[in-house]
Order: sequence, then C-alpha cells, then structure tokens
Amino acid sequence: MIPPYDRVAIGDIEVIRLLDGTFRVDGGAMFGVVPRTLWARRVVPDRENRILLALNCFLIRTPETTFLLDTGVGPDVDRRFVDFYSVERDPGLFGALAELRLGPEDIDIVVNSHLHFDHCGGNTLRTAEGRWVPAFPKARYVVQRGEWEQALHPVERDKPSYLPARLKPLGESKTLSLLDGDALVAPGIEAVLIPGHTAFHQGVKVVSGGRTFFYLGDSVPTVAHIDLPYIMSYDLYPVDTFNNKKALLARAAEEGWILAFSHDLGHPFGTLQRSGKRLDFVPAAGPEND
Ligand SMILES: [Zn+2]
Repeated sequence: MIPPYDRVAIGDIEVIRLLDGTFRVDGGAMFGVVPRTLWARRVVPDRENRILLALNCFLIRTPETTFLLDTGVGPDVDRRFVDFYSVERDPGLFGALAELRLGPEDIDIVVNSHLHFDHCGGNTLRTAEGRWVPAFPKARYVVQRGEWEQALHPVERDKPSYLPARLKPLGESKTLSLLDGDALVAPGIEAVLIPGHTAFHQGVKVVSGGRTFFYLGDSVPTVAHIDLPYIMSYDLYPVDTFNNKKALLARAAEEGWILAFSHDLGHPFGTLQRSGKRLDFVPAAGPEND
C-alpha cells in the first residue's frame, strides 16, 4: 500500500508527494522507440500491455509560502477517461491535502509543469451550476505563456490532451502568472523551461540550505525514463526531450540534486549516481530513515 504522500527536506523547505491517484497507460506509448523486450524488464505490464502510473503532485512548504506543483486529473475527471485508463482516486489530491490538515485556501501558488489534463485537472472545480472556478481560491497559478496559449487554442494534434473550457476561468480571474522562460517564482523557487514533451513544458528547482530539489515534470516521468532513449510517444519534440534530459540529468548527478518524477508510484524522489556512462537511480531516504 502506497501512502498518499511521502516527503523530503531541502534545507528549511519541506517537499511532500501528494498522490492524486493512479492510472494505467499503454507501455509501448510510455517508452516510445524502446522495444517491449527491453522496457518490460524494468516495468511489468498488465494483460492489456498497460503499466501502472502515479498522478504525482508535490507540495512545497517554505517558512512563508505553500506551493503545489501540478494538480493531477482532479475530481471532475471525465468518466470515459476513468474507465479507459482505470483511474483510481482514493483519496485524491484534496483528500491527501486534508490528511495534512490543509484545505484549498492554504495553497498560495500553483505551478503547472504543463497543461495536459493529467497535470492540471485539479486547477479548477465545477460548481453545481456547471461553471468552472479556481479550486484554490487564494492561489496564484503559474505557467509558461506559450503553454497557456497552446492549451487555450490547441492545434488538432493536441486536442485530446487539453481541456480549454476548464482552464479559461483562470485567465479571467486575474490569478494567472504567465512566464516567458526561466523565472524566479519566489526566493529559492525557480521555474525552468524544459521543452520536449510540449514546446513550453517547465520543471521547478528548489534550492535551500545547500541542497537542490528538481521536479522534472513529464521530461522524465518515471525512474524507468532516466536512460536517454526512454522517451514517451506523447512527446511532441522528442529530440528536444533527449537533449534537455541529457544536460539536466548530467548536472543533477554531478550536483547531487533530489529529483522528483511526475508519474512514478514507488519512487517519487531520488538522486542519481554516475557509474561510467550510466546514471543509476538511488531512492531518497524519507525523514523516518534519516
Ligand atoms: Zn503526464
């Protein structure tokens, strides 16, 4: 049984994985050009060739501010999607927050890696009258401007990935901060552009007390994607994913960053250790193991 959250400390900043739920996606689509004979050694698929993935969200608590990185599929996830991808959401993001005695009004800033429906589904909620409203009433929502434009006016290839009607109210509520590339979101918290999965996909870097945490978003969705050729078929610009991942992970290994993965259930956090050309994953010890 996976707990709904796990945590690491980065100086005086606490990072907690909040699980919005799990879903099952075709293993072939998750590993792109890598043949099944290779990826199935790392992740065992079910009878329908699907692999179990987490909908990871991350809570970042600095002494002053509470951040949420990504919001999962959210409680209003489409019924067809739930059936097709065997989505399980119990207790879901809001339940996981409640277990920490946090309510939606306690979140100051929401940062989305990108706006695919499995990363921003909890950004808004549907009212009884069928209107979409911000789910975190006091939060500022932070996303790249290019991603926002892409999500609100998706091109044909992208239409299944975005739900613009659910996002639009954020633009009208004046709570939206649109970034143009790398930017400091708050002291020690930086949004970092990592193009590849989408053109304006971003990660989040947290530096405190001499330690660095980095949320990779969908550039490296699970530990099985650390090896460079393991890239999702969903990536719009796989060559960019490859190059950006190569540079980012090399630096992460060198500087001992604690990495966080968007869809890994068993290993939300970990570091990398170089052995020759290979980068090996080392799970992060939780506070109970310190
Ligand atoms: Zn994703």
